[in-house]
Amino acid sequence: MELRFFNTLERRVMPFHPLVPGEVGMYTCGPTVYNFAHIGNFRAYVFEDVLRRTLEFFGYRVRQVMNLTDVDDKTIRDSRAAGLPLREFTAKYKEAFFEDIRSLFIEPAEVYPAATDHIAQMIELIEVLMQRGYAYQSEDKCVYFSIDKFPDYGRLARIDRENQRAGVRINADEYAKDSVADFALWKAWDEADGDVGWESPWGRGRPGWHIECSAMSCEYLGHHFDIHTGGVDNMFPHHEDEIAQSEAAFGGKWVNYWLHCEHLMLNGEKMSKSLGNFYTLRDLRAKGWSGREIRWVLIGAHYRKKLNFTFDALEQSRETLARFDAMFQRMREIEAHGDGAEIAAAVTAALGHFRSALADDLNTAAAIAALFELSKTANKLADSGTLSAAGAGSVLAAFREFDRVIGCLEVDRVRAGAAIPAEVTALAEQRAAARKARNFAESDRLRDEIARLGFTIEDAPGGAYRLKKC
Ligand code: AMP
Ligand code: ZN
Repeated sequence: MELRFFNTLERRVMPFHPLVPGEVGMYTCGPTVYNFAHIGNFRAYVFEDVLRRTLEFFGYRVRQVMNLTDVDDKTIRDSRAAGLPLREFTAKYKEAFFEDIRSLFIEPAEVYPAATDHIAQMIELIEVLMQRGYAYQSEDKCVYFSIDKFPDYGRLARIDRENQRAGVRINADEYAKDSVADFALWKAWDEADGDVGWESPWGRGRPGWHIECSAMSCEYLGHHFDIHTGGVDNMFPHHEDEIAQSEAAFGGKWVNYWLHCEHLMLNGEKMSKSLGNFYTLRDLRAKGWSGREIRWVLIGAHYRKKLNFTFDALEQSRETLARFDAMFQRMREIEAHGDGAEIAAAVTAALGHFRSALADDLNTAAAIAALFELSKTANKLADSGTLSAAGAGSVLAAFREFDRVIGCLEVDRVRAGAAIPAEVTALAEQRAAARKARNFAESDRLRDEIARLGFTIEDAPGGAYRLKKC
């Protein structure tokens, strides 16, 4: 089955063909580490995770690069306000970001390059643009990209040439479509930068935001790669500027497929830090919602549709996941004889629907419908006592397959915890205490007792242990 994605560059759904068969190079614009990411940001990262997992599900080996923007207008502004050195200020939010993505079941990227570790590569890239005549230093000492020299400028965001103001300059990292202009590659140091700055052929200063992604993607994925993603708000100016810089410097097509995810909304408005209408992941977790429940809400809608965030959706997510948990538990308890034939067709159909929904531009909503279908059939057969152990096993196996992409079903979580009787856990705790007191005779006696109840105990470093059913 062929994977198809909506390519923003062409504004149509296209079959996906990577440059190297079986392998995918993918660049995803990462967080600006000046605050805790909000769940709108996480909609984008979860979408990218679903994309990555889907590619893997279809057998591709993925090399994903996600940058960390640890120097730009916002990080400098807020680190100064906090009275902290930039590095120290951003370190806290980098760490928080990694904690957050773990709790949302996001698979780690292969590389997380930080902008401040790649200043030399950015300077080198700007030098190439200077040599090739695409960049110039203006009287304000900043270096700008001349959009006039790049006839394709505006192709991604569909901006007509008449609306472009070549020669007019803008040096803010973020700006709107109606101020299309030559943008800053290198920003000359000024007072607001405090002690942030690097020496360059154009004097002390710092890189513009856009050049960061061009330099870091080139470093880890080369001059031409498969997929570049981000939220729709990244399309202009960020991605437009990245394309201009990269294609001007490398001399050819830079990225084959551009995928953009729509916004997470709150009461009809884009969730955003600047509007102040946002929840961080931490806000929601403090209210008792789990990463699993939040992820389920975020993947429920197709990535190219706006998604309105509500607490009702979280309630529903909790209910749905609890129902799946109960179904998993039920499947494990079924011991009736048989060969599984009674549900084989439903399992095959559900896996087929799941696969074809994802192949169709990551239609997660339709993919999830396949989960509900199979769950319903399995429960119905179980109700009528006609589901065999083999059939129940094949249902669980199918859900483990689904979870390679869904990521938060945790099909075997209940078994790991609930199947261990309290009596066994209590003995294991007593044994841990005996070991701590170096009473090894008692510890061995308890191990034997645990074994008589049908469990083995494996010791791990630091006094931890793991119980397993024999
Ligand atoms: P930033 O840290 O502002 O560069 O944003 C990080 C990522 O989150 C980018 O890919 C943005 O496009 C994305 N993003 C920001 N706000 C939202 C939102 N409300 N819904 C979906 N994605 C968003
Ligand atoms: Zn970027």
